[in-house]
Amino acid sequence: MNDPRPPQFKADATQGDGIGCHSGKSEMLAAAQQAGKSEVLEQYARDYPLAAEAGPHDQPQSMCPAFGSLRVGLRMRRTATILSGSACCVYGLTFTSHFYGARRSVGYVPFNSETLVTGKLFEDIRDAVHKEADPARYDAVVIINLCVPTASGVPLQLLPKQINGVRIIGIDVPGFGVPTHAEAKDVLAGAMLRYAREEAAAGPVAAPRNGRAQLPTITLLGEMFPADPVGIGMMLAPMGLAAGPVVPTREWRELYAALDCAAVAAIHPFYTASIREFEAAVRPVVGSAPVGHDGTEAWLQAIGNAANVPQARIDAAKNAMLPAIRGVLAKAPIKGRITLSGYEGSELLVARLLVESGADVRYVGSACPRTVWSDADREWLEAKGVRVQFRASLEQDLAAVDEFRPDLAIGTTPVVQAAKQASIPSLYFTNLISARPLMGPAGAGSLAQVINAAIANKTRFDTMKAFFGDVGSGDKAGVWEGVPTEHPGFREQTRKKIIRLQKKLEQESMGS
Ligand code: SF4
Repeated sequence: MNDPRPPQFKADATQGDGIGCHSGKSEMLAAAQQAGKSEVLEQYARDYPLAAEAGPHDQPQSMCPAFGSLRVGLRMRRTATILSGSACCVYGLTFTSHFYGARRSVGYVPFNSETLVTGKLFEDIRDAVHKEADPARYDAVVIINLCVPTASGVPLQLLPKQINGVRIIGIDVPGFGVPTHAEAKDVLAGAMLRYAREEAAAGPVAAPRNGRAQLPTITLLGEMFPADPVGIGMMLAPMGLAAGPVVPTREWRELYAALDCAAVAAIHPFYTASIREFEAAVRPVVGSAPVGHDGTEAWLQAIGNAANVPQARIDAAKNAMLPAIRGVLAKAPIKGRITLSGYEGSELLVARLLVESGADVRYVGSACPRTVWSDADREWLEAKGVRVQFRASLEQDLAAVDEFRPDLAIGTTPVVQAAKQASIPSLYFTNLISARPLMGPAGAGSLAQVINAAIANKTRFDTMKAFFGDVGSGDKAGVWEGVPTEHPGFREQTRKKIIRLQKKLEQESMGS
């Protein structure tokens, strides 16, 4: 039976001004460690290592990391997802999820200082989970601790493992422990795989919706364009293999099918917790992906080897695909110097495809960490003279644009903005590049059109720059009747006020 007493929380992390993802990381971390979260934070530190030098990913530089877990939960059938965190964080996360087309409600357990300090928040979470756990509607209820509840030690591990047959998955996804939203997808996918693996080990589990696959399958790790798994299936067919589920899955029972594979293709190489579960299920894992000619050849060989396919069948698969890929690449060349950065984890694969299409790629920055599963892509790119930067900061991405003055900068929103300001054509990685097929013959030609069109826009940028000059930049941005007058005196006054306030806070904290 559960202990009916509410657990005592360490709520110091919530005291003070400005605590959140833009400040107070060390305080939050220390509070979380004292509050009994050391084990989970140490695991995250191993799974999602930061850069050796104090990196920018000490705090999120892109969206709140918890969005990754939330999105994985919201995309699954018969799964309820509940957030526990500050109202401002939850507002941002629900806004972003609906912006990206979630067609589900996001659950929320609010708190205040009192419910947090007294432990009532945990009771509220337990009540919410019990209320949601309706087996007619759900296979699983996911509850996500954001920064403040994690730092305060809200013990989701004390929730029941299942209620009326509905699985309860509690995870901590603090911005001070999980560096990017990409890795937060792995936190939830890994937790679900672990649960499903333990269920499968304990006894029979549900078959996939369309029955078990007739052929041995390859599980695909990482979100990808919907046509890519179909294309991969066609590439695998000559080897007597089939494409298995994509993890993160869209339904609970797919987790069993994902575990029941001949091998795992770590298409996105940062799914460390998920890979741990596959390895625990004794499944071989293969890095990289079938992108371009060289990438496809190496990947088919590695997958064939991992699945014990005879060499003649591996060669048959290669012969069926490689000439077609070579033909498409030759027909759709890309000419121009490119820098590329993103936070999806597929940046190295896109760069390979660009290089094979003829582009002069100088820099690839990924917000994700280096892993053994990205080694093959990194080595291939470095051999072609491309600088590869893992855990890349916005500053490093911008410096690369400055250094290489590319014909096209592919990147995140701030990189694209900076490039446009410098009259450099640019494309958003997430919206325009990762929303296209990348694998096999379909992927080979998919980037050329959009990239060549963007590069050809250079003269339009020059014309606009010449027309507008420096109008509307910096403090004068916006619509004004006249040229705004600067008031340096006000600025100085505010600066002094802030310094006074900081000193006062420092003195107070020394006296406390
Ligand atoms: S939960 Fe997300 S938005 Fe909120 S403080 Fe943490 S990292 Fe920032």
